[in-house]
Amino acid sequence: MAIQRTFSIVKPDAVRKNLIGAIYSRIEACGLSVVGAKMLHLTREQAEGFYAEHEGKVFFEPLMEFMTSGPIMVQVLEGENAITFYRELMGTTNPENAAAGTLRCDYAESMRFNAVHGSDSEESAAREIAYFFTENEVCAR
Ligand code: UDP
Repeated sequence: MAIQRTFSIVKPDAVRKNLIGAIYSRIEACGLSVVGAKMLHLTREQAEGFYAEHEGKVFFEPLMEFMTSGPIMVQVLEGENAITFYRELMGTTNPENAAAGTLRCDYAESMRFNAVHGSDSEESAAREIAYFFTENEVCAR
């Protein structure tokens, strides 16, 4: 299986609850490596650009409020089949349906306040990594 990179966010709800370390532990325990990371407080403009595909949807405004409500951690994760593997570790968008043992099952409050983000395809991963990281901010292992 191919070594891939994916993009991940620890969202404002999880940062507020001091869950950065717990989430990083779970990521590392299942074999993914953090190869780039930083803490940011998104501007409205950054949040709109990142979630442009959802513009016009009913949840867009509340999502913007949520994502700009406090600091987040953004990270690049590397490992075998990292994109699908990390999506599986996160669990479904709605934590009510998230499988036991997933990050959203354990740490999400609701469909909106759902603790983490992960890229859903190779294209998204490339776009999202480039949105937040320059090439020299992602380190080779
Ligand atoms: N979201 C929401 N209400 C919805 C759907 C999504 O508040 O009905 C939020 C939620 O925080 C989600 C984000 O918008 O993580 C992006 O939605 P997407 O469908 O891309 O879900 P994801 O890929 O994060 O599981």
